[in-house]
Amino acid sequence: MREECGVVGVVMHNAEPQSNPTALQIYYALYALQHRGQESTGITVHDGSMVHSLKGMGLVPEVYSKEEIDNISGNVGIGHVRYSTTGASGIENCQPFIVNFKGGTVALAHNGNLVNSKELRDELESKGSIFITDSDSEVILHLLIKELLRSDPVDSIHAVMRRLVGSYSLTILIDDLLIAVRDPLGLKPLCIGEVEGGHVVASESVAIDTLNGKLIRDVNPGEIVVFKDGEIKSHRIYNEKHPAHCVFEYIYFARPDSIIDGQLVYRVRERIGEQLAVEYPVDADIVSPVPDSGITSAIGYSDKSGIKYHEGLMKNRYIGRTFIIPGQAMRETAVRLKMNTISQNIEGRRVILIDDSIVRGTTSRRIIDMVRSAGAVEVHARIGSPAIIAPCYLGIDMATRDELIAAHKTVPGVEAVINADSLGYLSIEGLVKAVGIDKENLCLGCLTGSYPVEIPGEECHRRQLKLNEF
Ligand code: AMP
Repeated sequence: MREECGVVGVVMHNAEPQSNPTALQIYYALYALQHRGQESTGITVHDGSMVHSLKGMGLVPEVYSKEEIDNISGNVGIGHVRYSTTGASGIENCQPFIVNFKGGTVALAHNGNLVNSKELRDELESKGSIFITDSDSEVILHLLIKELLRSDPVDSIHAVMRRLVGSYSLTILIDDLLIAVRDPLGLKPLCIGEVEGGHVVASESVAIDTLNGKLIRDVNPGEIVVFKDGEIKSHRIYNEKHPAHCVFEYIYFARPDSIIDGQLVYRVRERIGEQLAVEYPVDADIVSPVPDSGITSAIGYSDKSGIKYHEGLMKNRYIGRTFIIPGQAMRETAVRLKMNTISQNIEGRRVILIDDSIVRGTTSRRIIDMVRSAGAVEVHARIGSPAIIAPCYLGIDMATRDELIAAHKTVPGVEAVINADSLGYLSIEGLVKAVGIDKENLCLGCLTGSYPVEIPGEECHRRQLKLNEF
C-alpha cells in the first residue's frame, strides 16, 4: 500500500488545556494540506490527562463539525489527511493511530512509505503482535510501543529509526509530549513554525501560513524534534551526508505557495517552465496550462519564450470526486464537468500546452483531444518533468511499471499516443537546475529507476546506506 499524506502537530504553551483551541488550529492546518490527502482525516488532542480524537472518511470540512471541534480540548495535538489509494480504503486506516499501553498513550500520524514494512510486520506478528490495519504506520507504532516499555521517548524513537527503511515524516504524541521525526534521507517534507503562544509542525509551510505563523525551518533529515515547555529540542540522530528529497513534491504534489527544504515551490515551477522554453522552443501563438498543475510552469514558459500566456482550459473549482459513470457518453460529460475549453482562446491557434507530468498518459490524450476539438491547429505538449519511467516506493502513489506510459514507449511513441504535434519532456539536468538542490541530494527514483534505499528487484545507488550516527 502506498501512502501520500499530510501530517500536522500543534502545541500551545502556557495555556489552559480546557480553553485551548488546538483542535481548531489542527483543523485549519489540515484544511491547508487537503491536497495531500482527500480520503480520510483525523485529529487527536491531549488535555493533560487523556486523549480525545475525531476521525472520518472524506474531506476536512465534511468530516468535522464546529461542535465536535469545540468539544475536544487539549493544548497539544496531531492531525492527518490521507490520500485515496486503490484498495485498503476504510476507517480503520484513518490516522492518527492511537494506542493505550502500560506506559501511557501514543498517537501517531505518518506521511511516507516503508519499504521493509512486511519483514518488520512478520517479525512482530511472530512475536505475538496483533495488527488491526495493513498499514506500515501501524508497524512503526508497534515498534515504538515495545521500545517505550524500556526507554525514554527519544531513545525509543532512535531505536525504531534504526529498523525502518523508507520514507517517514511523523508527528507523534506520547501522552502530552509532541515529537516530530523525519527519516534520515528527508524524503518527505516536514517543517516547523511558530504561532502566537505555540509551535506547529507540518508537512508543508502553507499550514503554518494559514495559522498566521512563521516558518522557522525544516525538520532536518534524521532529526527528532521534541516540543517541550515552550522550547524546541533537537536530537540529530543521523547525519547522512546526502539527503534524498522527493523531487515529485516540487513537480506536482506540494502546493506552489509552500517552501520545502529552502525552495519556494512556485519559483521552482516557474523555473521549470523557463527551462522547458530553453530546451524545447517552438513557434506558436499561445502558451496554455493544463490547470491547475501546469499554471506556474506555463507562466515561466511564456515569460522566457515571449509567447503570450492565454488560458484555453478552465477547471471546475468545486469538483470533488466524481462517481464512476457507466457508458462512454456520460463519461465524456464527467470529463467536461472537471475541465472545459475556452474555444475563443484556442480556435485557429498553435497552442503550447504545459502540464506538470505524464503518468499513464490518459489525461494528456483526453485534454489534447479537447483542445483540438476546440479548434487548435497545432498542439505542442511541454511537460514539466522528465519521463516517469519507474514506480515510486517511497510515498507517491504513482502507478505500476506496467501502467507508466514512458516505461514502455519512447518519446515519439508517447507523442503519438497522446496525439500531440510535438512533445518535450524536461531533461533531468534541467529539472535539477530548476529545483535548486544538488542532484545527489534528491530522490529521482521515478525518473531514473535508481533509488536511494534498497528495494528488492530495483537498482540502488547507495549500497552502503549505513547512516553515520553522531
Ligand atoms: P495520467 O498521465 O493520465 O496518469 O495523468 C497525469 C496527471 O495526473 C498529471 O498531469 C498530474 O497533474 C496528475 N498526477 C501526477 N501524479 C499524480 C499522483 N501521484 N496522484 C494524482 N495525480 C497525479
